[in-house]
Amino acid sequence: MTGKIIKGIAGFYYVHIKDYGIYECKAKGKFRNNKIKPLVGDNVEVDILDSLEKKGNIVKILSRENDLIRPLVANVDQAMIVFAVKKPDPNLNLLDRFLVMMEYQNIETIICFNKIDIGNEKFMEELKNTYNNAGYKVLFASATENEGVEEIKKLLYGKTTVLAGPSGVGKSSMLNALTNEDKMETGKISEKIGRGKHTTRHSEIFNMDKESYIVDTPGFSSMFVPGMTKEKLQDCFPEMAQYEPECKFGGCAHINEPICGVKEAVNSGKISKTRYENYILLYKELEEMERNKY
Ligand code: GDP
Ligand code: ZN
Repeated sequence: MTGKIIKGIAGFYYVHIKDYGIYECKAKGKFRNNKIKPLVGDNVEVDILDSLEKKGNIVKILSRENDLIRPLVANVDQAMIVFAVKKPDPNLNLLDRFLVMMEYQNIETIICFNKIDIGNEKFMEELKNTYNNAGYKVLFASATENEGVEEIKKLLYGKTTVLAGPSGVGKSSMLNALTNEDKMETGKISEKIGRGKHTTRHSEIFNMDKESYIVDTPGFSSMFVPGMTKEKLQDCFPEMAQYEPECKFGGCAHINEPICGVKEAVNSGKISKTRYENYILLYKELEEMERNKY
Protein backbone atom coordinates (compact mmCIF):
# COMPACT_ATOMS: atom_id res chain seq x y z
CA MET A 1 0.00 0.00 0.00
CA THR A 2 1.13 3.54 -0.56
CA GLY A 3 0.59 6.52 1.67
CA LYS A 4 2.05 9.84 2.70
CA ILE A 5 4.22 10.57 5.73
CA ILE A 6 2.35 13.17 7.73
CA LYS A 7 4.58 13.29 10.76
CA GLY A 8 7.84 11.90 12.05
CA ILE A 9 8.71 11.58 15.71
CA ALA A 10 11.55 9.75 17.38
CA GLY A 11 12.13 7.12 14.73
CA PHE A 12 8.46 6.59 14.00
CA TYR A 13 6.74 7.79 10.87
CA TYR A 14 3.01 8.32 10.73
CA VAL A 15 1.76 7.40 7.29
CA HIS A 16 -1.66 8.39 6.04
CA ILE A 17 -3.08 5.75 3.74
CA LYS A 18 -6.18 7.04 2.00
CA ASP A 19 -9.35 5.39 3.30
CA TYR A 20 -7.36 3.20 5.72
CA GLY A 21 -6.18 5.76 8.23
CA ILE A 22 -2.88 6.43 9.86
CA TYR A 23 -0.23 3.77 10.30
CA GLU A 24 2.65 3.95 12.73
CA CYS A 25 5.69 2.84 10.77
CA LYS A 26 9.40 2.26 11.04
CA ALA A 27 11.77 2.66 8.14
CA LYS A 28 12.95 -0.80 7.11
CA GLY A 29 13.64 -0.59 3.40
CA LYS A 30 16.82 -0.84 1.39
CA PHE A 31 16.81 2.92 0.95
CA ARG A 32 18.31 3.13 4.41
CA ASN A 33 21.64 2.04 2.98
CA ASN A 34 21.60 5.01 0.60
CA LYS A 35 21.25 7.40 3.49
CA ILE A 36 17.95 8.70 2.20
CA LYS A 37 15.94 9.67 5.22
CA PRO A 38 12.18 9.66 4.87
CA LEU A 39 10.74 13.16 5.09
CA VAL A 40 7.36 14.47 6.02
CA GLY A 41 5.55 14.73 2.70
CA ASP A 42 7.17 11.65 1.21
CA ASN A 43 4.95 9.24 -0.60
CA VAL A 44 5.97 5.80 0.57
CA GLU A 45 5.23 2.13 0.16
CA VAL A 46 4.18 0.42 3.35
CA ASP A 47 4.21 -3.23 4.33
CA ILE A 48 1.34 -3.63 6.72
CA LEU A 49 2.31 -5.60 9.81
CA ASP A 50 -0.85 -5.27 11.83
CA SER A 51 -4.00 -3.74 10.42
CA LEU A 52 -5.81 -3.66 13.77
CA GLU A 53 -3.04 -1.86 15.63
CA LYS A 54 -2.21 -0.02 12.41
CA LYS A 55 1.47 -0.74 12.36
CA GLY A 56 3.72 -1.17 9.35
CA ASN A 57 7.12 -0.80 7.78
CA ILE A 58 8.12 1.77 5.22
CA VAL A 59 9.89 -0.25 2.54
CA LYS A 60 10.24 2.31 -0.25
CA ILE A 61 10.26 6.04 -0.76
CA LEU A 62 8.61 6.98 -4.03
CA SER A 63 10.51 9.47 -6.18
CA ARG A 64 10.31 13.04 -4.95
CA GLU A 65 9.11 16.06 -6.91
CA ASN A 66 11.30 18.18 -4.67
CA ASP A 67 12.68 18.23 -1.16
CA LEU A 68 12.92 21.51 0.63
CA ILE A 69 15.57 22.33 3.18
CA ARG A 70 13.46 24.92 4.96
CA PRO A 71 11.05 23.62 5.97
CA LEU A 72 12.34 20.07 5.67
CA VAL A 73 9.46 18.63 3.69
CA ALA A 74 9.13 16.63 0.47
CA ASN A 75 6.76 17.10 -2.47
CA VAL A 76 5.57 20.61 -1.77
CA ASP A 77 3.62 22.37 -4.54
CA GLN A 78 3.37 25.83 -3.06
CA ALA A 79 3.54 27.87 0.13
CA MET A 80 1.11 30.19 1.81
CA ILE A 81 2.48 32.70 4.28
CA VAL A 82 0.10 34.25 6.76
CA PHE A 83 0.53 37.67 8.34
CA ALA A 84 -2.03 39.80 10.16
CA VAL A 85 -2.84 43.28 8.85
CA LYS A 86 -2.95 44.32 12.49
CA LYS A 87 -2.36 42.84 15.95
CA PRO A 88 0.45 42.18 15.33
CA ASP A 89 1.40 44.64 12.57
CA PRO A 90 2.99 42.74 9.72
CA ASN A 91 6.76 42.54 9.87
CA LEU A 92 7.54 43.06 6.19
CA ASN A 93 11.19 42.24 6.66
CA LEU A 94 10.18 38.82 7.91
CA LEU A 95 7.74 38.47 5.03
CA ASP A 96 10.39 39.35 2.44
CA ARG A 97 12.81 36.92 4.05
CA PHE A 98 10.31 34.16 3.72
CA LEU A 99 9.61 35.05 0.10
CA VAL A 100 13.33 35.02 -0.66
CA MET A 101 13.71 31.63 0.95
CA MET A 102 10.88 30.19 -1.13
CA GLU A 103 12.05 31.86 -4.36
CA TYR A 104 15.46 30.35 -3.80
CA GLN A 105 13.86 26.93 -3.51
CA ASN A 106 11.58 27.54 -6.51
CA ILE A 107 8.35 27.30 -4.59
CA GLU A 108 5.52 29.68 -5.45
CA THR A 109 4.16 31.59 -2.49
CA ILE A 110 0.71 32.98 -1.85
CA ILE A 111 0.57 35.81 0.67
CA CYS A 112 -2.41 35.79 2.99
CA PHE A 113 -3.15 38.81 5.15
CA ASN A 114 -5.45 37.80 7.97
CA LYS A 115 -7.58 39.82 10.44
CA ILE A 116 -9.05 42.13 7.78
CA ASP A 117 -11.97 42.70 10.15
CA ILE A 118 -9.73 45.00 12.19
CA GLY A 119 -7.52 46.27 9.35
CA ASN A 120 -7.15 49.75 7.90
CA GLU A 121 -8.39 49.98 4.28
CA LYS A 122 -5.63 52.23 3.04
CA PHE A 123 -2.88 50.14 4.58
CA MET A 124 -4.37 46.96 3.13
CA GLU A 125 -4.47 48.57 -0.31
CA GLU A 126 -0.78 49.45 0.05
CA LEU A 127 0.10 45.90 0.99
CA LYS A 128 -1.82 44.58 -1.97
CA ASN A 129 -0.06 46.91 -4.39
CA THR A 130 3.38 46.26 -3.00
CA TYR A 131 3.15 42.52 -3.29
CA ASN A 132 1.12 42.34 -6.49
CA ASN A 133 3.79 44.50 -8.11
CA ALA A 134 6.40 42.07 -6.89
CA GLY A 135 4.49 39.31 -8.66
CA TYR A 136 2.74 37.62 -5.77
CA LYS A 137 -0.83 36.55 -5.29
CA VAL A 138 -2.18 38.45 -2.30
CA LEU A 139 -5.26 37.34 -0.39
CA PHE A 140 -7.13 39.04 2.40
CA ALA A 141 -9.05 37.04 4.95
CA SER A 142 -10.44 36.76 8.38
CA ALA A 143 -10.15 33.32 9.87
CA THR A 144 -12.48 34.07 12.77
CA GLU A 145 -15.12 35.81 10.60
CA ASN A 146 -14.76 33.13 7.95
CA GLU A 147 -14.06 35.71 5.26
CA GLY A 148 -11.95 34.85 2.24
CA VAL A 149 -11.63 31.27 3.41
CA GLU A 150 -13.44 29.78 0.40
CA GLU A 151 -11.09 31.55 -1.99
CA ILE A 152 -8.10 30.15 -0.14
CA LYS A 153 -9.59 26.67 -0.30
CA LYS A 154 -9.83 26.98 -4.06
CA LEU A 155 -6.16 27.93 -4.37
CA LEU A 156 -5.10 25.04 -2.17
CA TYR A 157 -7.29 22.41 -3.77
CA GLY A 158 -5.46 19.37 -5.09
CA LYS A 159 -2.10 20.60 -3.87
CA THR A 160 0.32 20.23 -1.00
CA THR A 161 0.79 23.66 0.55
CA VAL A 162 3.25 24.73 3.20
CA LEU A 163 1.53 27.04 5.67
CA ALA A 164 3.84 29.40 7.52
CA GLY A 165 3.60 32.52 9.61
CA PRO A 166 4.86 34.08 12.81
CA SER A 167 2.88 33.43 15.97
CA GLY A 168 -0.19 35.45 16.76
CA VAL A 169 -1.23 36.14 13.16
CA GLY A 170 -4.03 33.57 13.25
CA LYS A 171 -2.34 30.66 11.53
CA SER A 172 -3.98 28.06 13.78
CA SER A 173 -7.36 29.74 13.36
CA MET A 174 -6.84 29.65 9.59
CA LEU A 175 -5.82 26.00 9.65
CA ASN A 176 -8.98 25.27 11.60
CA ALA A 177 -11.16 27.26 9.23
CA LEU A 178 -9.67 25.46 6.25
CA THR A 179 -10.02 22.00 7.69
CA ASN A 180 -13.19 22.23 9.75
CA GLU A 181 -15.47 20.17 7.48
CA ASP A 182 -14.84 16.66 8.70
CA LYS A 183 -11.90 17.24 10.99
CA MET A 184 -9.92 15.13 8.55
CA GLU A 185 -8.66 11.66 8.87
CA THR A 186 -5.25 13.13 9.52
CA GLY A 187 -6.57 15.26 12.36
CA LYS A 188 -7.04 12.19 14.47
CA ILE A 189 -3.32 11.77 14.75
CA SER A 190 -3.27 14.63 17.18
CA GLU A 191 -5.30 12.64 19.64
CA LYS A 192 -3.15 9.58 19.17
CA ILE A 193 0.26 11.14 19.65
CA GLY A 194 -0.48 14.50 21.18
CA ARG A 195 0.02 17.85 19.57
CA GLY A 196 -0.07 20.21 22.52
CA LYS A 197 2.10 23.30 22.67
CA HIS A 198 4.40 21.43 25.07
CA THR A 199 5.47 18.80 22.56
CA THR A 200 8.47 19.56 20.38
CA ARG A 201 6.96 20.77 17.17
CA HIS A 202 7.79 19.32 13.81
CA SER A 203 6.20 19.93 10.46
CA GLU A 204 2.94 18.11 10.28
CA ILE A 205 0.55 17.49 7.42
CA PHE A 206 -3.21 17.78 7.47
CA ASN A 207 -5.81 16.98 4.88
CA MET A 208 -7.88 19.96 3.85
CA ASP A 209 -10.00 17.48 1.92
CA LYS A 210 -9.20 14.14 0.32
CA GLU A 211 -7.19 15.76 -2.47
CA SER A 212 -5.38 18.54 -0.64
CA TYR A 213 -2.71 18.65 2.01
CA ILE A 214 -1.58 21.48 4.25
CA VAL A 215 1.84 21.33 5.89
CA ASP A 216 1.87 23.16 9.19
CA THR A 217 5.41 24.37 9.85
CA PRO A 218 6.55 25.55 13.24
CA GLY A 219 8.06 29.04 13.19
CA PHE A 220 10.54 30.20 10.61
CA SER A 221 13.50 31.55 12.50
CA SER A 222 16.29 31.21 10.00
CA MET A 223 15.70 31.92 6.37
CA PHE A 224 19.10 31.26 4.91
CA VAL A 225 19.21 28.14 2.90
CA PRO A 226 22.63 26.61 2.33
CA GLY A 227 24.18 27.96 -0.85
CA MET A 228 22.46 31.33 -0.66
CA THR A 229 24.80 34.22 -1.52
CA LYS A 230 24.41 37.97 -1.81
CA GLU A 231 24.82 37.66 -5.60
CA LYS A 232 21.86 35.30 -5.83
CA LEU A 233 19.64 37.49 -3.68
CA GLN A 234 18.38 39.71 -6.52
CA ASP A 235 17.07 36.64 -8.35
CA CYS A 236 14.83 36.09 -5.35
CA PHE A 237 13.18 39.49 -5.85
CA PRO A 238 11.14 38.72 -8.98
CA GLU A 239 10.29 42.36 -9.71
CA MET A 240 13.93 43.37 -10.21
CA ALA A 241 14.98 41.37 -13.27
CA GLN A 242 13.00 43.45 -15.78
CA TYR A 243 14.93 46.61 -14.87
CA GLU A 244 18.37 45.07 -14.91
CA PRO A 245 18.97 45.68 -18.64
CA GLU A 246 19.08 49.38 -17.82
CA CYS A 247 21.92 48.94 -15.34
CA LYS A 248 25.21 50.21 -16.69
CA PHE A 249 27.41 47.58 -15.11
CA GLY A 250 27.18 43.85 -15.57
CA GLY A 251 26.63 42.11 -12.26
CA CYS A 252 25.11 45.28 -10.82
CA ALA A 253 24.11 44.75 -7.20
CA HIS A 254 21.70 47.70 -7.46
CA ILE A 255 23.13 49.35 -4.37
CA ASN A 256 26.06 51.72 -4.90
CA GLU A 257 26.45 51.53 -8.67
CA PRO A 258 25.70 54.64 -10.73
CA ILE A 259 23.13 54.33 -13.52
CA CYS A 260 21.10 51.46 -12.14
CA GLY A 261 17.75 50.44 -13.63
CA VAL A 262 16.54 48.97 -10.35
CA LYS A 263 17.31 52.09 -8.32
CA GLU A 264 15.54 54.18 -10.95
CA ALA A 265 12.51 51.90 -10.71
CA VAL A 266 12.51 52.38 -6.94
CA ASN A 267 12.72 56.16 -7.33
CA SER A 268 9.86 56.27 -9.78
CA GLY A 269 7.72 54.02 -7.56
CA LYS A 270 7.71 51.01 -9.88
CA ILE A 271 9.47 48.93 -7.25
CA SER A 272 8.29 49.24 -3.67
CA LYS A 273 10.60 51.10 -1.28
CA THR A 274 10.10 48.64 1.56
CA ARG A 275 10.93 45.72 -0.70
CA TYR A 276 14.08 47.47 -1.90
CA GLU A 277 15.10 48.41 1.64
CA ASN A 278 14.68 44.83 2.72
CA TYR A 279 16.77 43.74 -0.24
CA ILE A 280 19.60 45.96 0.98
CA LEU A 281 19.27 44.73 4.56
CA LEU A 282 19.38 41.11 3.47
CA TYR A 283 22.26 41.83 1.11
CA LYS A 284 24.32 43.34 3.92
CA GLU A 285 23.45 40.44 6.16
CA LEU A 286 24.61 37.92 3.59
CA GLU A 287 27.76 39.95 3.01
CA GLU A 288 28.46 39.89 6.73
CA MET A 289 27.90 36.15 6.87
CA GLU A 290 30.29 35.57 3.99
CA ARG A 291 32.91 37.79 5.60
CA ASN A 292 32.71 35.83 8.84
CA LYS A 293 33.29 32.60 7.00
CA TYR A 294 36.81 33.58 5.96
P1 GDP B 1 -1.29 31.70 15.62
O1 GDP B 1 -0.38 31.97 16.77
O2 GDP B 1 -0.82 32.34 14.38
O3 GDP B 1 -1.62 30.26 15.43
O4 GDP B 1 -2.65 32.50 15.95
P2 GDP B 1 -4.05 32.02 16.57
O5 GDP B 1 -4.86 31.29 15.54
O6 GDP B 1 -3.81 31.34 17.85
O7 GDP B 1 -4.73 33.46 16.80
C1 GDP B 1 -4.14 34.45 17.60
C2 GDP B 1 -5.23 35.40 18.06
O8 GDP B 1 -5.75 36.12 16.94
C3 GDP B 1 -6.41 34.70 18.69
O9 GDP B 1 -6.87 35.48 19.77
C4 GDP B 1 -7.43 34.65 17.57
O10 GDP B 1 -8.76 34.62 18.06
C5 GDP B 1 -7.15 35.94 16.85
N1 GDP B 1 -7.55 35.89 15.44
C6 GDP B 1 -7.30 34.93 14.52
N2 GDP B 1 -7.84 35.23 13.34
C7 GDP B 1 -8.43 36.43 13.47
C8 GDP B 1 -9.15 37.29 12.58
O11 GDP B 1 -9.37 37.00 11.39
N3 GDP B 1 -9.59 38.48 13.09
C9 GDP B 1 -9.38 38.83 14.39
N4 GDP B 1 -9.86 40.02 14.80
N5 GDP B 1 -8.72 38.06 15.26
C10 GDP B 1 -8.24 36.86 14.81
ZN1 ZN C 1 21.44 47.92 -10.97
